[in-house]
Amino acid sequence: MHEVPPQDNPSCEPVSTISLTAWRRVCDTLDCAFLLLVPDDSQIIECNRAAHHLFGYGKAEFLRFKLSDLGDELKNSFLPEEFRSTVQCRCRIKNGKSFWGEIILQKIDLDGVQFLLAEIKDLSRKKQLEAKLKRSEELSRVIQRLNKIGSWEYEIAANKTFWTEEMYRIHDLEPCSSFRDADTVIAETLALYRPEDMPLVAALFSKCVEEGVPYIVEARMNTLAGHLKWVETRGERIIDDKGEYKVVGYMRDITENKQQEEIIRKGEEKYKTILQTAIDGFWITDLEGRLLEVNDGYCRMSGYSEAELLTMNVAQLEGTLDSAQIAEKIDLLMLEGAIRFETMHRRKDGSLYDVEVSAKPLDFHGNKLFAMLRDISAQKEAEKENRSLQAQLLQAQKMEAVGRLAGGVAHDFNNMLGVILGQAELALLQTSPEQPLAHKLLEIIKASERSVDIARQLLAFASQQPIEPKRLDLNEVVSNTLKMVRRLIGEDIALIWTPGQELCPIKMDPAQLDQIFINLCVNARDAVGDQARIVIETDVVYFSEEDCKNNIGCVPGEFALLSVSDNGCGMDKKTLENIFEPFFTTKGPGKGTGLGLATVYGIVKQNSGFINVFSEPGKGTTFRIYLPSDRGALKLEGDNKAVPVASREQETVLLVEDEPTLLNMAQQMIESLGYRVLAANSPGQAQTIAREYADQIDLLVTDVIMPGMTGLELVRAMEPLYPKLKYLFMSGYTADIIAPHGILVEGIHYIQKPFTRHDLSVKLREALAAE
Ligand code: ADP
Ligand code: MG
Repeated sequence: MHEVPPQDNPSCEPVSTISLTAWRRVCDTLDCAFLLLVPDDSQIIECNRAAHHLFGYGKAEFLRFKLSDLGDELKNSFLPEEFRSTVQCRCRIKNGKSFWGEIILQKIDLDGVQFLLAEIKDLSRKKQLEAKLKRSEELSRVIQRLNKIGSWEYEIAANKTFWTEEMYRIHDLEPCSSFRDADTVIAETLALYRPEDMPLVAALFSKCVEEGVPYIVEARMNTLAGHLKWVETRGERIIDDKGEYKVVGYMRDITENKQQEEIIRKGEEKYKTILQTAIDGFWITDLEGRLLEVNDGYCRMSGYSEAELLTMNVAQLEGTLDSAQIAEKIDLLMLEGAIRFETMHRRKDGSLYDVEVSAKPLDFHGNKLFAMLRDISAQKEAEKENRSLQAQLLQAQKMEAVGRLAGGVAHDFNNMLGVILGQAELALLQTSPEQPLAHKLLEIIKASERSVDIARQLLAFASQQPIEPKRLDLNEVVSNTLKMVRRLIGEDIALIWTPGQELCPIKMDPAQLDQIFINLCVNARDAVGDQARIVIETDVVYFSEEDCKNNIGCVPGEFALLSVSDNGCGMDKKTLENIFEPFFTTKGPGKGTGLGLATVYGIVKQNSGFINVFSEPGKGTTFRIYLPSDRGALKLEGDNKAVPVASREQETVLLVEDEPTLLNMAQQMIESLGYRVLAANSPGQAQTIAREYADQIDLLVTDVIMPGMTGLELVRAMEPLYPKLKYLFMSGYTADIIAPHGILVEGIHYIQKPFTRHDLSVKLREALAAE
């Protein structure tokens, strides 16, 4: 490049004052790439540092190029006719790469010589930014479309509005990509809102524009395409980059959400209707047990109104569980996901009823519990009744079984006692009264007689023993039995006997009276502890009609009272309710049989009496037994102890008994009374003997139940030989032919086994005296 003298140019005078080198330095500091070209062929003759950086060529390399060498579109034809021209094209650079450039060419006149100045800009970065912007706009459009969210802006001062494409789509309008006049747009939009919703939307928008109050609102609009849409609109006033107020916001089409909500709401309504009309109750509660929802079913069950229930807590309705137990149930429920249990609830009137509760956490509402409540009181009642019937049946069966067992045992026991008693009496006959042995034998006899009574009682309990009521003096019986009772209860217990004066006589089996008395005393003994006292009293009591009104089982009249009191442990209400039940006992296994009071009850009932019990836990117990008076002939029956013996003629007795020891004993006993005895151990043998001793037998004494033949059948079998035979039956059983209902048939001579010598002597005489 050659030096050019400064041109005569008045406007750029200072040029002449700087050197070319200085000028080049200026050019090199510029950021923009410059090339200086020869106009004819665009040969490059000068370049600045920026050009050097942009293209990568050194100065020497540039000077070998024409502009057209830097890009295919930069041919000669491009060279401007006019003063200045611009072209955008790909420019080649040194490493074989290229960039998108903009080349501005202009003619310049330097000191009268024409040049071209090429200014080259790298457009790639701008292009990239533009592409990026375009992409993000596209993306935003897609996002808006997919989410049905349109956005908008309103430039207040300019009164211009811009909507995104989705805004138009929500309104069912043709998209428009430019700013529009705000008044038109606002008018258009507001016109679409439903008249009920429009004023609110308009008011919120104005407030936001004028005062900068942000808003969010849901409203319905009818679009021009005829669709009803739910939209959510939000607006906020901001200051834009030009310092101007501007309202920006979005609009969301929430029609589908609303439809979904509606479906859910309808579903919930349906389920609520079902629950409301259900017979069972239901609750929704929070985790503290506060009632949040109840149905009519529960209102009916509980007697409370819905309003009352909604102020209440589960604990106020629970009848049996306390707050801690309720909390435990709730914990269990959260742990297991569901629970079902039975409890009791309290009605508004205070009464309790049985409820089955099934509860679950309400997961879609969170932290709430759902419970179904079923009134099962009727069901429970039926179950209870069923159980009680079942229990009664079981008891009846038990009683029958025990009765049969007791009867069987007592029968054998009876026979053995007969032997003991008989042999002792026979031994006594052979002993002179002064001998100490006589006293011992008497004791054996007494004990045996007592045992006979007890065995008889067992048979009575088993309904296999006819009772033999006698006129008795209660005081006498009690004092006679006291000695034995003392032995039974031991010496540590104070036994206080307070006989009443001028008692009325009673009529009952003395063994039964003993049994009552002993059973009560034994129970009292079992109930007392330290400083124990048992008080026995007797008295005479009159009950009027009036007295009986409040006393079930009581009948008006005169009664002898036997009262047994103790200062023992007493009984609670529940125990008291059951004491007369057979087998009811609170004593440990092997200690109590539960038959004591049941027997007392049975005996008292059988004798038309009644019982009162007074007892409280820790306060002791009093049993009062009322036995009907037998006042009439006031003289009490005295035992005639004289023993009638056989007549002079040596009467002959045919004795039949299959039990050998009994046969032996009875034979000795009868012989001791002066009779001749023909002993047979079976009905068959009896018949043989009868034939042998034809006409010699005065009396047949026979057992009733024997193998092969009964006593009655034996009598019938002997009748041909002895048409006028006299007979006496011996039996331990009552369920016999002779006494099918426990009542002896008039005229039949019968002796209860085991018997005393005295009883037997009397019965023998009676039988022999019969016609
Ligand atoms: P058992 O004596 O074999 O238990 P009972 O029929 O005699 O059977 O008595 C039934 C129950 O009644 C006893 O287990 C006891 O709980 C209660 N009971 C009876 N008498 C008394 C009493 N005097 N004091 C306290 N409890 C009593
Ligand atoms: Mg008892």
